Amino acid sequence: MDLPKLAIAALGGTVSMQTGKAGEGVTPSVSGETLLASIPGLNTLARVTVETLGLLPSASQDFEFLLSVLAWAKFQIKQGAAGVVITQGTDTLEEAAQFFDYLWPHDQPLVLTGAMRSAAQPGADGPANLLDACRVALAQNSRQRGVQVVMNGQIHLARSLRKTDSLALQAFSSPNVGPAGLLLEDRVCYLRSPDPRVVLPLPQQTSHKVALLEASLSADTLLLENIVALGYDGLVIAGFGAGHVSPDWATEIGHVAKEIPVIVATRTGSGSTARATYGFRGGEMDLIRKGVSMAGFVCPRKARILLWLLIGCQQQDEVGRYLNG
Ligand code: ASP
Repeated sequence: MDLPKLAIAALGGTVSMQTGKAGEGVTPSVSGETLLASIPGLNTLARVTVETLGLLPSASQDFEFLLSVLAWAKFQIKQGAAGVVITQGTDTLEEAAQFFDYLWPHDQPLVLTGAMRSAAQPGADGPANLLDACRVALAQNSRQRGVQVVMNGQIHLARSLRKTDSLALQAFSSPNVGPAGLLLEDRVCYLRSPDPRVVLPLPQQTSHKVALLEASLSADTLLLENIVALGYDGLVIAGFGAGHVSPDWATEIGHVAKEIPVIVATRTGSGSTARATYGFRGGEMDLIRKGVSMAGFVCPRKARILLWLLIGCQQQDEVGRYLNG
């Protein structure tokens, strides 16, 4: 029987990290080929190709780099891959996964994974996560689910995933909905059916800028006052509670929203923004009247990715359609 084709790319991150000189800490240095050697059983499941597209800590990625990785992944599908797996750093895993998910047009799965412990640490989780990610990418029941992240035996949808712990092995969760599925023995088990997905056109430009500012107690308005003059094309606010800011911020946001699109999300880490509950100055009703879009369940970082992609294809006026606020 012909085995399915599976394409794997390594981008860097802890999963690709090893110690160099004593006392200097781990850095990304392990190639995709070496990562693959840690899961020898994989060639009984698939015909695997592997490429090292980067050796970056994930904070060093940028949108242009992610667009080049996306082009590579789409090419693999065109060449007949049944699924694609990408290994990368976990610090920006939720952003990279969401970025890809907005632009992934295929039924075939694109699965991201990484590790919380480097190969230099006892109990390194990289090999198990990579094998799980490959299983998910090859499973028939993973089709039409867009981009997913596999970590620590759980499968998360790109849009619900968050890194909720800095160093723990169980660092990822989907706060409002829980994981989409689990790896049980060698089975890929989903807890829900696939949802309809939104796929955006590729951005036609990449030089535009979207700022992300977090509301905090007694914060001044200097950055807000200058955000348009500084050349930003969009603004996301990580607001208090259900999407709130101080009265001074509300006044400035009102001015900014006349010039560029503004999204207000919640900085809380889970839950949705409100729409029609709070009537005080700086509350969501005031902000909506001033022209902002409320993010709903979309977290500030992912709202920024959405706005950047929409501006990139001149669809920023449609932003409300893609938010659930
Ligand atoms: N802590 C990170 C990781 O897990 C470093 C990075 O994001 O690259 O990979």
